[in-house]
Amino acid sequence: MRILLSNDDGYFAPGLAALAEALAPLGQVTVVAPERDRSGASNSLTLDRPLRLRTAANGFYFVNGTPTDCVHLAVTGMLEELPDIVVSGINAGSNMGDDTLYSGTVAAATEGYLLGVPSIAMSLSSHQGKHFETAGRVARELVERFARQPFGKPVLLNVNVPDIPWEQLKGQRVTRLGRRHKAEPVVRQTTPRGEIVYWVGAAGPAADAADGTDFYAVEQGYVSITPLQIDLTHAAQIGAVNSWLAG
Ligand code: MN
Repeated sequence: MRILLSNDDGYFAPGLAALAEALAPLGQVTVVAPERDRSGASNSLTLDRPLRLRTAANGFYFVNGTPTDCVHLAVTGMLEELPDIVVSGINAGSNMGDDTLYSGTVAAATEGYLLGVPSIAMSLSSHQGKHFETAGRVARELVERFARQPFGKPVLLNVNVPDIPWEQLKGQRVTRLGRRHKAEPVVRQTTPRGEIVYWVGAAGPAADAADGTDFYAVEQGYVSITPLQIDLTHAAQIGAVNSWLAG
């Protein structure tokens, strides 16, 4: 099996090393990841300068670009054959609900999906990142399942794993995205040179964490698996916008 890995935390991130180690027994693993932390990069492509592909001592490739750049470059130029699967992560921190719009972890998987490859985004629920090996094992079981039982249609899975030992996982749930409250406001600071700067604030707490959502599953100790799609069309509002224009 040809497996392409990427992430948004950077090629040096422990979550990526854990993912590569977990998936190595399943086939030929190629890692192409950003040269620095690009969390929050969403689906951005670098169009204003060339991308440079370099190799780290451990064999991972790293790119002076975004997660999307990495997968795009790997699939459309670098790899001789299309990978059988793209796996992104393991992110340090969950990517649930509205996070998926901002996440570089999800974006790297989305790029694989858009290029015709089954793709999985893997995130560990806490920023402390104590149990990457739990998420690595979840990833391995999912990729093994793809190998013996192909899904049969294009698929993009957003997977969030509680940051707990494997034995404590309650199981897995196929979920829908929940929603977050508005983000915290920016944090204003003054630099030593007297300049005012702003830090983007933290994501809001869960607003919709009802039974059936990703938030609920992870909170209850389950692995959350959400199938994602890309079409943002609000089909139910097409009629309402038509009426509004005719009014
Ligand atoms: Mn990240």
